[in-house]
Amino acid sequence: MGFSCGIVGLPNVGKSTLFNALTKSSVPSSNYPFCTIEPNVGIVEVYDERLDNLHRITGSQKKTYTTIRFVDVAGLVKGASKGEGLGNQFLSNIRDVDAIIHLVRLFRSEDVVHIGEIDPVRDVEIINTELILKDLEFIEKNIDKLSKIARNNKEAQKELEVLERLNKELPEGRLAINILSSEEVEVISKYQLLTVKPMLIVANIDDKFIGREREDENFIKLEEYAKSLGVKVLPLSAKIEREIAELPEDEARLFLDELGLKMSGLQKLAIEGYKLLDLITFFTFNEKETRAWTVKRGTNAQSSAGKIHSDMERGFIKAEVISYDEFVKIGSWAKARDEGRIRFEGKDYIVQDGDIILFRFNV
Ligand code: GDP
Repeated sequence: MGFSCGIVGLPNVGKSTLFNALTKSSVPSSNYPFCTIEPNVGIVEVYDERLDNLHRITGSQKKTYTTIRFVDVAGLVKGASKGEGLGNQFLSNIRDVDAIIHLVRLFRSEDVVHIGEIDPVRDVEIINTELILKDLEFIEKNIDKLSKIARNNKEAQKELEVLERLNKELPEGRLAINILSSEEVEVISKYQLLTVKPMLIVANIDDKFIGREREDENFIKLEEYAKSLGVKVLPLSAKIEREIAELPEDEARLFLDELGLKMSGLQKLAIEGYKLLDLITFFTFNEKETRAWTVKRGTNAQSSAGKIHSDMERGFIKAEVISYDEFVKIGSWAKARDEGRIRFEGKDYIVQDGDIILFRFNV
């Protein structure tokens, strides 16, 4: 199961439009036989220039980018934490994703109703408030439980301290991920709080502002507010993304050139989602395929082998490794081996971003 970002947003902000674009540019499921494709899931490739270069050098028959999953988490409205709309169902769907992509509306349209004026800061506050309220409800329950056992239990005591801190500070409108240190996040990881998940705000801008979003004062306000939350903002136009997703590749390229863009908003979204999850990429190749794989930063060689096949993890012997930069300089595996540049690493080796790995294993 890959890493996933849940897309949330108020009604009529362009969520279905964006999601539609995502599923249109979804990878063919035949490439990824181990993924089950569900209707509310779009799996998109994470573009990586390094893979293109490697593929050129290795001359494999095909290249395969790594992917990221986007999940459409339907129906957040004001009051969801109290059961309004899809309410609790919605909130429990967010628990299952690794990061939250928060879509807000900046585009103006007489035809599309919105709750009052276009005000992205208010929209972000509404959704964050629901997430925070839900967390607070959960935190209070657990504080009660933990208080009863904390006196004789060091672990419970630690958890209690972190939860009490959140209980005080979350009502100020900040998110747990920006209140706590990474050690504290670890201490309470089993509680799966919603506001502890990394977040990215996606601003659905008017198409006339593509490439110059800072001319829209709402965007500036949103960016300032997001900064105070410690959250990044990515501008795109869901409408244009859907149009691009419907075009054949060469026409899409032309369209992007006309708009003065290097890559589509969806490609940027995939890259930002990837960054949000603190993932790294390693590469493998053989005659058939040069391929990028994803693991969480800090994953060892043996578990990384398991991403490719469980047999490889079980029968792991060693990993032959060279960094991308070094490999590209040398230009071939055989030469790198002759020059003694391929390292032999054991199962506990922590895989680094850009490693090119040949796993040796027994079946
Ligand atoms: P959802 O309720 O958040 O899923 O919103 P939808 O994707 O259904 O969009 C609501 C309406 O806004 C639809 O009529 C869309 O065509 C329109 N819409 C979505 N994105 C844009 C956009 O970027 N610009 C404009 N003008 N309209 C958009």
